[in-house]
Amino acid sequence: MDYPYEAKYPALQFAAIFNTNRCIGCHTCSMACKSTWTFSDGQEYMWWNNIETKPYGGYPQFWDMKILKLLDSAHVSQEKEMTWNTDKKDVKKAPYGQYDGMTIFEAVQHEKPEEGQSRVLGYLPQDHEWSKPNIHEDASPINTKEHDAMGFAKEGVKLPVHDSFFFYLQRICNHCQYPACLAACPRKAIYKRPEDGVVLIDQERCRGYRKCNEACPYKKPMYNGKTKASEKCIACYPRLEGKDNIISPEGVPVETRCMSACVGKIRLQGLVKLDSNGLWEKDSSNPLYALIHEEKIALPLYPQFGTEPNMYYIPPRWAPRNYLMQMFGPGVQQSIDNYTYPTRRTLAILQLFRAQREIIYKFETKEGPKIYEREVTLSDGTKKMLEVFDDTAIGYNKNGKECVRVTVQEPAFERSAKFLNSI
Ligand code: SF4
Ligand code: SF4
Repeated sequence: MDYPYEAKYPALQFAAIFNTNRCIGCHTCSMACKSTWTFSDGQEYMWWNNIETKPYGGYPQFWDMKILKLLDSAHVSQEKEMTWNTDKKDVKKAPYGQYDGMTIFEAVQHEKPEEGQSRVLGYLPQDHEWSKPNIHEDASPINTKEHDAMGFAKEGVKLPVHDSFFFYLQRICNHCQYPACLAACPRKAIYKRPEDGVVLIDQERCRGYRKCNEACPYKKPMYNGKTKASEKCIACYPRLEGKDNIISPEGVPVETRCMSACVGKIRLQGLVKLDSNGLWEKDSSNPLYALIHEEKIALPLYPQFGTEPNMYYIPPRWAPRNYLMQMFGPGVQQSIDNYTYPTRRTLAILQLFRAQREIIYKFETKEGPKIYEREVTLSDGTKKMLEVFDDTAIGYNKNGKECVRVTVQEPAFERSAKFLNSI
């Protein structure tokens, strides 16, 4: 891939997993972010964290369709194909195969040659495209004739794939390994922090040229008309640094506002170690490494863009696979099956999502008794008997101190007859 700067990787990388299957679209995360960072003049339209209903919703509107269309037309004009070679698997670099098409860094050379200065294929959204962060919420496409006039399926739908579907997509800056925003900035005002890989815009250097707004395929830098500079998610870096001494008196890193406010318990954030090639160092005791690289249940969003995003998603089980493959690449089928029929370890780690505020550096599991079994159906229709055990997951913070202990089965307490009606 062509990237305009020499590769340089941080020691640790800020990363996270979102479980789309569990998001309830409550927008608590968005409000937590907004009330912390974007409540000032000039930031009215900014949602550094937003939730959009796929397939129709988008903030800015149709952002992904627009960039995919640009990328597609660059391939058509060059008579190239945007394909994945799933034979070329490499456990460390490309576990699901290799993308054989052009990324936004190469495609720009063909699609916008007249503009000369552009280093990244992109577009600048119009103001009105940012005006409705939540448009088409809960709107589901109707794929078949088997729906009544109201759009409800005549017969109940069942897994593994629904005819009608929608799902919530959680979106923050991906703090990419190869940030398109950074590549495009003519002022060199954007940098990736060596200590945690967080991508920041230097507000002093930025002159508001909006090249980052144009270049970021995920549309996460936003322009502040009041300060005349661009702004973006800062990964709540004082919390990552353990400097928020109200919630972290011992100075250990804590999760960002959007992660720790998540009502649906769908988010898990961490800091992962990178090797000298920018690849995640093997660390089976890190919950993110274990879920992404070993249990293989989470995937990056639009990996074909080429920025190597560090936010990962467990794809929704009910959405059409072709749609999901365009969004998350060829690992979709496998990750959904691994989520539907999880290992004991996967199930235990999933309990750690949003169960604590401190960042988990290390986890371990302890085995418990079998509590449940049921038949599940995989994507190809194969039936499996899923056995569930009441295992315990224990998380440790940066100082090696236990910060969370959760079981697969949530404990239940029965109120005594004496207090039955008391509040
Ligand atoms: S998501 Fe966009 S703004 Fe964030 S680092 Fe990647 S390219 Fe830059
Ligand atoms: S707080 Fe959690 S559950 Fe609610 S919308 Fe945000 S990601 Fe989804």
